[in-house]
Amino acid sequence: HSLTTTKYYPEIIRTLNKVFELNSFRENQLEAITAAMEGRDLFVLMPTGGGKSLCFQLPALCKTGVTKGVTVVISPLISLMKDQPVVSDPEKIDSSNSLKHTLRELHRDKQLARFVIDEAHCISTWGRDFRDSYKNLDCLRREFPGVPIIALTATANEQVEMDIIDRLGIQGCTRLRQSFNRPNLNYEVRPKNKSVVADIAEFIQQKYHKETGVIYCSTKAQCEDLAKKLRDTHKLSAQHYHGGMPQAEKASAQEEWQKGYCKIIVATVAFGMGIDKANVRFVIHHSVPSSLANYYQETGRAGRDGNPADCILYYTGADCFRKLHLIRNPPKDTDREKTPEQIHREEDAFRRVMEYCQNEVDCRRVQVLGYFGETFHPQNCHQLCNNCRDPTAEIKEDLTEVAVNAIKLMQALANNGSQLTKSQFVDVMRGTLEKAEVFINGRERLILSFRAGSATTAKRPKKIKADSRSTSYAEPASAVRRTKKAHELEEDPIALFADDDDDEPEFVDDIIKPV
Ligand code: ADP
Ligand code: ZN
Repeated sequence: HSLTTTKYYPEIIRTLNKVFELNSFRENQLEAITAAMEGRDLFVLMPTGGGKSLCFQLPALCKTGVTKGVTVVISPLISLMKDQPVVSDPEKIDSSNSLKHTLRELHRDKQLARFVIDEAHCISTWGRDFRDSYKNLDCLRREFPGVPIIALTATANEQVEMDIIDRLGIQGCTRLRQSFNRPNLNYEVRPKNKSVVADIAEFIQQKYHKETGVIYCSTKAQCEDLAKKLRDTHKLSAQHYHGGMPQAEKASAQEEWQKGYCKIIVATVAFGMGIDKANVRFVIHHSVPSSLANYYQETGRAGRDGNPADCILYYTGADCFRKLHLIRNPPKDTDREKTPEQIHREEDAFRRVMEYCQNEVDCRRVQVLGYFGETFHPQNCHQLCNNCRDPTAEIKEDLTEVAVNAIKLMQALANNGSQLTKSQFVDVMRGTLEKAEVFINGRERLILSFRAGSATTAKRPKKIKADSRSTSYAEPASAVRRTKKAHELEEDPIALFADDDDDEPEFVDDIIKPV
């Protein structure tokens, strides 16, 4: 291969062995390193754990490259420095001025070897976490002409990739993309019900006793609560981690987990950036992730050592409603108000997660990788997802229409002032409702029945039949509380699902908006 015959190769391989104590390259690493040595602009798209760091750390230590001197790495992790001892505003200006000054001097002396932009998707407003501090990076090319720029990311669809390249002004760069498939990860979606904690504990005890993992929750309270239950009830080594903890506590929780003193970390998504632990055996989502890109990133922390690992996502309709509600009504205390466009994009991204959870037919890898624009052939999954594994999941039937009908039906009910209990509603959404009586105006009775089909379709609404019978009917059973009629309702009453308890026969006609 020509890469092994370049004049840089001897130094590259020597550095790999001597400094990094490694003996082979992973996919695209040698390509990236060689391009860096040749002084090219470079765009590297590599999945989490793929080994991006080596692509710029190794050339930084070599002397034979076209450009010499200092490699400047720009990484959003540096923003963690914000949490460090407070720097007074005069000081800040001073330090950024002196940094600029230093860079200019280095540039003048031809001692700037390259700029490296890690987590480069942060520069794109299309990306999932745009950083203000990255906005100014478009000046690098102008202010430091002739200094190569290397952009690395694990998150980029083609739109984000184009945006990164445009903003950095590196249109002619060498582009290295690779498959995002993580062949050693098993992907599974499980229904979430009341026994979820016991399920998680049992799974860990049986399969990964005394091994390391991450459990993601959506709220700080959930993290604390779940960690406590795992410790107290199930005798597992678990600790919580979330953004509300003091910096020192966070650091020590992370360190204990990193070093293996604590096995399970129960965290919000605040946990993750920058962690590098090779032997994470499971990543469990106790709550749904915000997007498939995030899901990929979060599950990507499992199995970095290449050994088998499990990614399990617990899903319920109620969680999804809550999440949608949060997306549409973002908390007001954040620094920056979200634009309607941003909210729309977040909602879109989340709908893809819901589709992923509800799709029990297509290979999970095909679905996740498809999100990144990658075409994956399901035979290459090798039964490492619950859809490929479940031999009965052979439905090739598009049930979208059935679901649409269910929604139409419920809207019609809402228009008629009908009432459906909360648990019935959840059942409708899950498709598990067998038969339900729904009252229209407290008099008319409508019978909804979902005929369960074969074993494989039992979980989905096979057919929805609505019989309207004008039987005169007395008041609904006394156990059932009356609530407001659909037309009297507030704009977005999905908040009704603010608690998990579906036991109470609370009406939900108010969550179905009249058409
Ligand atoms: P990324 O930044 O792409 O998520 P890292 O650069 O942190 O990934 O690398 C992930 C892990 O893989 C690290 O533990 C790193 O030491 C290891 N690694 C990287 N390159 C190689 C290689 N060529 N051979 C063996 N291990 C490697
Ligand atoms: Zn599969």
